[in-house]
Amino acid sequence: MELYHLWIDGKRVEPSSGEWFETRDPATQEVLAQVGRGNAEDIDGAVSAARRAFDSSGWRNMPPAERGRIFLRIASIIRDQSQDLAILESRDNGKPFKQAKADVEVAARYFEYYAGVADKLLGQTIPVNPGYFDFTRREPFGVCGIIVPWNYPLQIASRAIAPAIVVGNTVVVKPAEETPLTALRLADICQKAGLPDGVINVVPGFGDEAGKALSSHPKVNHLSFTGSVETGISVMTAAARNVVPVTLELGGKSPNIVFADANLEDAADIVVKSIIQNAGQTCSAGSRLIVESKVHEQFTDMVIERMERLQIGPGLQDSDLGPIISGPQMDRVLDYVAVAREEGAVVRTGGGRVLDEKLTNGFFVLPTVFDQVSRGSRVATEEIFGPVLSVLTFYDIDEAIEIANETEYGLVAGVFTNNIRNAHVMAEEVRAGQIYINTYGVGGGVELPFGGYGKSGFGREKGLEALLHFTQLKNVLIRFS
Ligand code: NAD
Repeated sequence: MELYHLWIDGKRVEPSSGEWFETRDPATQEVLAQVGRGNAEDIDGAVSAARRAFDSSGWRNMPPAERGRIFLRIASIIRDQSQDLAILESRDNGKPFKQAKADVEVAARYFEYYAGVADKLLGQTIPVNPGYFDFTRREPFGVCGIIVPWNYPLQIASRAIAPAIVVGNTVVVKPAEETPLTALRLADICQKAGLPDGVINVVPGFGDEAGKALSSHPKVNHLSFTGSVETGISVMTAAARNVVPVTLELGGKSPNIVFADANLEDAADIVVKSIIQNAGQTCSAGSRLIVESKVHEQFTDMVIERMERLQIGPGLQDSDLGPIISGPQMDRVLDYVAVAREEGAVVRTGGGRVLDEKLTNGFFVLPTVFDQVSRGSRVATEEIFGPVLSVLTFYDIDEAIEIANETEYGLVAGVFTNNIRNAHVMAEEVRAGQIYINTYGVGGGVELPFGGYGKSGFGREKGLEALLHFTQLKNVLIRFS
């Protein structure tokens, strides 16, 4: 059985407790590896290593173009190893191989994208009185703590690590206990590419041990958390005690709003993809369909027909839909079927576990459509995090806006229409961090600022915007007369 150690200060390290935990393929429950169970002591060691690297490895004072070159080498090694990384990710998380392959490419893109901005982090000059010169500098915070969920392990780790370190920070990463393997492989790749020791440290372990220790560590200077609202609140509370800034990427209940004038064939393909990708375990999954009443029946049928055609199977079989990450998470998803029925919704397709004998060891849930969902009901407003779509209808654009904004979340929204006025009004009025018109994303969206309104969190990742969140601004005023 392969052992995955902690990665601290450029070395594989045994967990200080001497304990290891198993990580499994959720399609088969086969044990894939034994992973070091990092605890508070290990986090403390990793934070000290990151601090030393920040103070003295030369990383933050390296010419930015050289930092950029190291990033290009990281991207290139990720691509060289993309087959292995995708197999590892597909087995650890359960996602179909082609989705894992796409995730690996997006991870490479983060390093490539931020390589290009390493030497373009500009300040301002600010006109003041004669005889004075004023300018601003964007400076790194120091040690950034990065807590990653299990749904896009390599992609989300890279999304935070790349912009954090390109501006000179050093990081301690806590991957999710369900999917720790690819983040550890990434650390190894970074070292091969020439990243100095201690700039990236990875401590796998459990949320209430390693995660808690990282979010409350007094020597961490910035925290970036992706995961559930509940844990986000704990992380933010811990950060508040140390007066440390946080970026929170939490859940969503993102709508796809379909007007009758849209290209319905196209829209149906996109709506299905947006809820099926990663078995619906995507923070930005399009989990609500809000459709104009005059095409409700026609469009819902089109969606159901596509859902029922999907191939379901283990990640490496490269089907359309893989398993849910774990038994408890699957039970949580299936509990919502009973909730939907109690609330008067109609389960039009799915609504249970996949019964295929070959899949009974895995946590497979049928693609599911709840129709005639009532406004304000639990299945209309709560994040289910599975391949489950809730359908609501609207009569006019005002009602579409009201329904779209009727959750506490606000991560992403898709709008499908050929009417330019509808498109612009929706773009203005829907409360979400990203609005897509006649599409739902573009690749990994590496270049596009991403983050939430409301309980979907705050701060922005991706694009140039992320650099503002991983730096602090210093103003310098010089009197020269
Ligand atoms: P979670 O919040 O329990 O776990 C996420 C990470 O936080 C894991 O690494 C975990 O070990 C760690 N953690 C757990 N407790 C902690 C604590 N007390 N202190 C510090 N760290 C702790 O999330 P989950 O249940 O594993 O993931 C599912 C949820 O995450 C979904 O509900 C989804 O909404 C959300 N999510 C959001 C995004 C996003 O980008 N917005 C992405 C993925 C998942």
